Amino acid sequence: MDIIVLGHEATKEEIKHITKKLESWGLKANISKGTERTIIGVIGDTSKITEDEEAAIRAIPGVENVVRILKPYKLASREFKRENTEINIQGIVVGGKKIPVMAGPCAVENKTILTNIAEKVKKAGATFLRGGAFKPRTSPYSFQGLGEEGLKYLAEARKKTGLPVITEIMDPRDLDLIVEYSDIIQIGARNMQNFRLLLEVGSSNKPVLLKRGLSSTIKEWLMSAEYIMSRGNQNVMLCERGIRTFETATRNTLDLSAVPVLKQLTHLPVVVDPSHGVGKRELVAPMAKAAVAAGADALIIEVHTNPEEAMSDGEQSLKPEQFEKLMKELRPVAQAVGREI
Ligand code: PEP
Ligand code: MN
Repeated sequence: MDIIVLGHEATKEEIKHITKKLESWGLKANISKGTERTIIGVIGDTSKITEDEEAAIRAIPGVENVVRILKPYKLASREFKRENTEINIQGIVVGGKKIPVMAGPCAVENKTILTNIAEKVKKAGATFLRGGAFKPRTSPYSFQGLGEEGLKYLAEARKKTGLPVITEIMDPRDLDLIVEYSDIIQIGARNMQNFRLLLEVGSSNKPVLLKRGLSSTIKEWLMSAEYIMSRGNQNVMLCERGIRTFETATRNTLDLSAVPVLKQLTHLPVVVDPSHGVGKRELVAPMAKAAVAAGADALIIEVHTNPEEAMSDGEQSLKPEQFEKLMKELRPVAQAVGREI
């Protein structure tokens, strides 16, 4: 038993009774109340629940159904929730008909450059500003990001443009700071299996963009989403950003088949990052269009006013005019698959 479905007539006492019972078996209840029914997700190792115990739950008044989920990820699975999850972030919905585009530099470099980029991507139609203040760099000698100062610049750019902000967390100790300054918390590819970090972020209610690990399977990725959701935060977006393969012509191999696969396996919104997926400016636009055609719910794209001088990922950053052109080209593609940009 993994999910308990209760009718709308179920009382608070009945729900409490079930929660107590689950707790006495060492399990936890994740309660989500809808208008028609209440769903209790049972969290913990449910394989030990006996048939008699399951029957006892079924017998409680108000219980309509008890469902077993075969997948190792429960809350993230389509079996748990049939309808697509829509996440409303400052009035912008991710997972609905409209496809929001997150754009901005790889890293926040200084106030002037950031504000300038923010204004340009906003004008082109972007709906979120991206920018890292804590950067996961391969070399400890590379620019590591501006830290809190960078977060402050992001907040100022948001104030100026009205664009909500997405920025990366690398350390659970920065959670309060990042929650204060951001609208979406990004968990980068390198931290996809940093389980302590996932649990910490799961205990906040900020929307989370969980990037796919460099060498992670879709199942491992969904298990990481489950870590976040198991702590109560259901606002998780999955972001395909390319995986490591034998191919060297591109920085990574953007696995666009992950998009329809995820649509089958999970109700969570799927975001595609073509910038890190290909690593080369001229390849970003075709893959962004392909991502929309494949069913992506949102895109995240690196844009820089002066990519040649960028402190990170300049070679994959679009110039503002290239981004503007891409936004125009994306519209008919979205329309062809019943979406809007
Ligand atoms: C980024 O968004 O700049 C980034 C570091 O992404 P990833 O974790 O996908 O490499
Ligand atoms: Mn980057």
